[in-house]
Amino acid sequence: MQFTTIGVVGAGTMGNGIAQVFAQAGLTVIMADVSQSALDQGLRSIGNSLARLVKKDLQTEEGAAAVLARISVSTRLQDLADCQLVVEAATENAAIKEKIFRELDSVVGKDCILASNTSSISLTTIAAWVSAPERVIGMHFMNPVPLMQLVEIIRALQTGDACHQAIHQLALTLGKTPVTVKDGAGFVSNRVLMPMINEAAFVLYENLATAEDIDTVMKLGMNHPIGPLALADLIGLDTCLSIMDILHREFRDSKYRACPLLVQLVAAGRLGRKSGHGFYRY
Ligand code: NAD
Repeated sequence: MQFTTIGVVGAGTMGNGIAQVFAQAGLTVIMADVSQSALDQGLRSIGNSLARLVKKDLQTEEGAAAVLARISVSTRLQDLADCQLVVEAATENAAIKEKIFRELDSVVGKDCILASNTSSISLTTIAAWVSAPERVIGMHFMNPVPLMQLVEIIRALQTGDACHQAIHQLALTLGKTPVTVKDGAGFVSNRVLMPMINEAAFVLYENLATAEDIDTVMKLGMNHPIGPLALADLIGLDTCLSIMDILHREFRDSKYRACPLLVQLVAAGRLGRKSGHGFYRY
């Protein structure tokens, strides 16, 4: 399958990074969001990320300008009609994603692959929202997208072999390492990561140590490059909470209950780096 134009739905933390890596691979990208200010902010983030690459001599000024020129933005999903692939990276909320996938289904061509960057929502459920479920797949990028090597590919029960092959190959073209997993709550990455982050929140909630000390234990003791609480702030605490809630609901196991501190921080609007305050202040 030949990919030339890629749609990305959502211009937030993940969406703008995903748009950037596709544009860096020479593809034309249309980044769509309901919010014009999110699109403006998304483009600024991509500009800043490219400027850092230029500063480190990993990208030329002209190359960075060409990457930016390949990205256009829109507040209308209809503008994604000619894409061969749309990667949905909107807010982690099933109702929002269902609305997006149902609308995309009526907008894109019959060969277009619809991928989701969801962290935890069942791809099998997402595939059931559209008329060609064999062309739905999970393309789970890691944060920050331009730097992280992994793309976790999730096969829905309905995903066709051709769709899977095309996305596996495309991930390699982006310079990423794809790992394919079956559809199951949290997939592999968040099934393992989120309970660890949640447990670190419990340790803080129970006043066993400060946030800094919890992160230092995991960095220096376990050789993690970043502590779990700092990582949660990077991911977004609302996203972390939503993933814990999904694991809890799917497995009906109390070991996945969200830490009350995480619930409170989200209720207070302390969402991590993106709001300037989470477990830490920014
Ligand atoms: P975010 O809150 O930073 O951005 C979400 C964006 O979606 C916002 O700009 C919002 O305006 C937009 N949006 C909301 N409703 C929309 C709609 N109907 N149409 C178009 N755009 C809409 O969230 P994020 O952290 O970028 O997460 C996006 C997705 O990526 C989620 O599914 C999340 O689970 C997943 N994910 C996040 C991370 C992470 O570290 N943050 C990592 C991997 C996967």
